[in-house]
Amino acid sequence: MAESRSDTGTARIIDGKAFAAGIREKVARRVAHLKAEHDVTPGLAVVLVGGNPASQVYTRNKSKQTVEVGMESFKFDLPAETTQHELLGRVSELNEDSRINGILVQLPLPDQIKEHAVINPIDPAKDVHGFHVINTGLLATGQDALVPCTPLGCLMMLKDALGDLQGRKALVLGRSNIVGKPMAMLLIKESCTVTVAHSRTRDLPAEAREADILVAAVGRPRIVKGDWIKPGATVIDVGINRVPAEEGKTRLVGDVDFDEAVKVAGAVTPVPGGVGPMTIACLLHNTVTACGRQNGLDDRAD
Ligand code: NDP
Repeated sequence: MAESRSDTGTARIIDGKAFAAGIREKVARRVAHLKAEHDVTPGLAVVLVGGNPASQVYTRNKSKQTVEVGMESFKFDLPAETTQHELLGRVSELNEDSRINGILVQLPLPDQIKEHAVINPIDPAKDVHGFHVINTGLLATGQDALVPCTPLGCLMMLKDALGDLQGRKALVLGRSNIVGKPMAMLLIKESCTVTVAHSRTRDLPAEAREADILVAAVGRPRIVKGDWIKPGATVIDVGINRVPAEEGKTRLVGDVDFDEAVKVAGAVTPVPGGVGPMTIACLLHNTVTACGRQNGLDDRAD
């Protein structure tokens, strides 16, 4: 279990960095096995359109970690003025390329390109982001799917912290297609009793106080206060918010008021160093899983 105890409160601090390193090690072992036993090297293609600085950092990290676990990385930096038609052409080539097992088109995309117009043509078997409607439908019906990376990472941390999740009350704060909804589906599959809250929820603190598991994916700095948290609850903070800090600098905080949460929760993820590192690790995990399935090998995620 990757965690430490807080100095100031009672909560265990779940160490996402250490947890992610453990996942990458497992992925590297699976890659080595695929190479040695089946002569197959998983390949991940990352497509970036335009020079959004944050996206450039993300895609660089993804490519670097892909290589570190022994997979092949294919990186495509396309100009900001790329048309939707041109991007679809690239996706079509990647769908046909047998060296590539996973395709990731980095979001957000420039205004001239519609996200769904690009995600829908990706071969669902190569959709390692887990955003394709086929994967969404498989997840919603409880079947094997490529699951969106961030909620998958949250689920792994929850299972590690709590073991069996069955029967626990969970509140998912946020209903986005990439975090909130798939998170709720995963928790339903684990037989939790799930509430999904959003900006129109009437009494958010009251809903939160009922929850044994609280996953916050809102994008509002420290919206979840200590007195919203049920004593002993497990709190997973997905939010990444940049706020002003001293001397004109900025810093990252989550959606949970961490200093208050550690005094009440049973376990909590910090920001940074919690959910964030898990997302790329789960992308690599999805890519090796996709590669195994495409080659008819039961290289199932554990
Ligand atoms: P979205 O903006 O797509 O969704 C936010 C959700 O929060 C919506 O459902 C919205 O409700 C709800 N919400 C917004 N304000 C409130 C409020 N005041 N009270 C209650 N609910 C509210 O965000 P994402 O799901 O994409 O991301 C959420 C956060 O997670 C962001 O900070 C993002 O940066 C971070 N993130 C982190 C990742 C990681 O790797 N760690 C990966 C992905 C996201 P409504 O639907 O009613 O508008």
